[in-house]
Amino acid sequence: MAKEDFYKLLGVEKNASEAEIKKSYRKMAMKYHPDRNKDKPEAAEKQFKQIKEAYEILSDPQKRSAYDQFGHAGVDNSRGGGPGGFGGAEGFGDIFGDVFGDIFGGAGGGRQRSSVQRGADLRYNLELTLEEAVGGTEAKIRVPILTACGECSGTGAKKGSKPVTCTTCQGHGQVRMQQGFFSVQQTCPTCGGSGQQIKDPCRKCHGQGRVQENKTLSVKVPQGVDTGDRIRLGGEGEAGANGGPAGDLYVQVQVKEHPIFSRDGANLYCEVPISFPVACLGGELEVPTLSGKVKLKIPAETQTGKLFRLRGKGVKPVRGGAVGDLMCRVQVETPVRLTKEQRALVEKLKDSLSGGGKQHSPQEHSWVDGVKSFIDKLTG
Ligand SMILES: [Zn+2]
Ligand SMILES: [Zn+2]
Repeated sequence: MAKEDFYKLLGVEKNASEAEIKKSYRKMAMKYHPDRNKDKPEAAEKQFKQIKEAYEILSDPQKRSAYDQFGHAGVDNSRGGGPGGFGGAEGFGDIFGDVFGDIFGGAGGGRQRSSVQRGADLRYNLELTLEEAVGGTEAKIRVPILTACGECSGTGAKKGSKPVTCTTCQGHGQVRMQQGFFSVQQTCPTCGGSGQQIKDPCRKCHGQGRVQENKTLSVKVPQGVDTGDRIRLGGEGEAGANGGPAGDLYVQVQVKEHPIFSRDGANLYCEVPISFPVACLGGELEVPTLSGKVKLKIPAETQTGKLFRLRGKGVKPVRGGAVGDLMCRVQVETPVRLTKEQRALVEKLKDSLSGGGKQHSPQEHSWVDGVKSFIDKLTG
């Protein structure tokens, strides 16, 4: 089967430039995209493979010249298998991945390159006590930081010398590499994309243009911050490259666990053990808050687990809003290590309470009744 002329397949002249070939190939690739040819996918795939083959040859200067000289015979051998070399392992999707990755992926798309780079943002983990987080504080932190080298003013070149245009990429920062049949652009390995080379590096920064230093910063921590909050220190991050602006420093707040209080948003929680007699008879306790002790009145006949709310003794949220509350959860403590006498008293109390029927422990009795009817239903 005679093969179609590659130039004809791509719809370009014999003297077409590399850019014209690429442009035309892109247009053709879109035209034969499977999404646009759902009615006749096989024909489209066949057509596309031919176009792809033509492009692979014509986009490679060496193969193109061989093709120009000898026609199909000049390039078929180089792939060792003619058109049959396609298909099989290389799925249609993969082919399109290649094509559109190359065309639209940025590497070959003439992306703007700039050697002036903003410095990286940095993060610092700041541990605070609950008191510091709730009340606000001023923290001193020491951060390792890359700053512009003072010796070379950030250029990386030895004093009195200047960076020169990179000889590998002629200052473009990108180089063309052959990858299979495709020619792709890559960041220049010599200059790392800056387009400049330093022949005589600065001794202090070894040509980096930046040096690491420790910097002590004062961080104003506002009232009410919580774990996960970030405080931004603009311009305190890493120095920029080649005169670019510095990044920011993010101070990430981590609040340490408190022995007494736990926090949920604006509210604080604490557990308060109370004795059995106080739970029965009522009383007054002293409970701690972050701003000192306050009195808490326990009414008579208080059950364990009951929450008492102390209004306004919580946290003033950092983003505004009402001050939270302190929630005290009481835990009735069963007396331990009873003396003989105390045991006798409790026995006496027990007899007295059971003499009163259900009225002294309504929860227990309703629970027992509930269980009883549950069992009765089960056994029919
Ligand atoms: Zn330097
Ligand atoms: Zn270079």
